Amino acid sequence: MPPDGTRRPQLKHTSPTFGSGDTVFIGGYGEVTEIADPTGAIRRLLDLLDGTRTTGEVHQALTADFPEVTRQDVEEAVAQFDEAQFLLDAQLTSDGVLEAHELKRWERNINFFGSFARMDDNRYDQQRKLRDCRVTLLGLGGLGSHILLDMAAMGIGHVRAVEFDRVELSNLNRQILYREEDIGEQKLHLAVERVKQFNPHIDIEPVDMKIGSVEDVLRVLDGTDVVISVADRPKMEIANWVNEACVRTGVPLITGGLETQRAVYYTMLPGRTGCIECWRRQTFASDAVAGQLLDEKRERQIGGDNAAFCPLVTMTTGFLIGELTRLVTGIAPPVAAGRLMELRFADYAMGESERWERQSDCPVCGTAAGSGAPVAGLAVSG
Ligand SMILES: [Zn+2]
Repeated sequence: MPPDGTRRPQLKHTSPTFGSGDTVFIGGYGEVTEIADPTGAIRRLLDLLDGTRTTGEVHQALTADFPEVTRQDVEEAVAQFDEAQFLLDAQLTSDGVLEAHELKRWERNINFFGSFARMDDNRYDQQRKLRDCRVTLLGLGGLGSHILLDMAAMGIGHVRAVEFDRVELSNLNRQILYREEDIGEQKLHLAVERVKQFNPHIDIEPVDMKIGSVEDVLRVLDGTDVVISVADRPKMEIANWVNEACVRTGVPLITGGLETQRAVYYTMLPGRTGCIECWRRQTFASDAVAGQLLDEKRERQIGGDNAAFCPLVTMTTGFLIGELTRLVTGIAPPVAAGRLMELRFADYAMGESERWERQSDCPVCGTAAGSGAPVAGLAVSG
């Protein structure tokens, strides 16, 4: 972080300014900040915040027209603009952070991340964090094929993709990486090949595996920063295996799926939020009817595939990838940590469906945990 005196405050392009009479407006993201400016000094100050001057030089230039403005006035204004996320420090460049090709390919991402940045933040760092992070993606079906393509589009550097299944005609209403000519072929290598055509810089490690135990999940978690699980067979068991493996290794888990007309997703942060077994125990303890429904639902869902509609798959992908972005870059906290979020397709109503805490007596993540006992989990499918 550079010392305060060398910073070169620059008004972000994502914070447009406009004036009317003795008022200045700074816009952005559906909100407008209104600032009284009877003398015109604020407008002149904003013009001077173009990244070519230090705060001291901005003050010096401003006093040519407004001699009454003190250095402290300028420093306070800059601090307030920075707090409102209007400014970046033009002195913090991409040198040593990103290469020339990356700057061009991820230009719009960088502008997006820059909109969250404060002056202490180098807005190029977020893209590098995406490039350097290692994600394990379980499942390359409806959600998985969208997610892999999205991760390539946003610049995730390393993905371990796990899938065993082959392409069926009925997959093609939503599994966008495959074609009719692929029917009967393995999804894994087709997905990797097509995504690498889109972004040859992504490193994808294909793992041909049908997950059948906690140990299987542990094997593919080695060296992973985040897991996205959208594998759905066997429906209930795989959620439990992934949950337990993530708790044991401390790797954050993002998961979600479709329930016909509804999309759900949640994020589990080991040691911080409740796990899937915590949720099941809380549901059984607080509501016997809900617990019974859960049991019946489990039986029912093991029997057959859910409905799955591409627009809902696409939207769910956005939420899951949004959680990944939040976890990796830290631009904002994850929305679904410790709670199940839902989106209802009928009216796009969105919000929290359920919330649960970490249970101290949870056999998976509680303080007395240590057994590898199978547990029940959320019923989601991709
Ligand atoms: Zn737990």
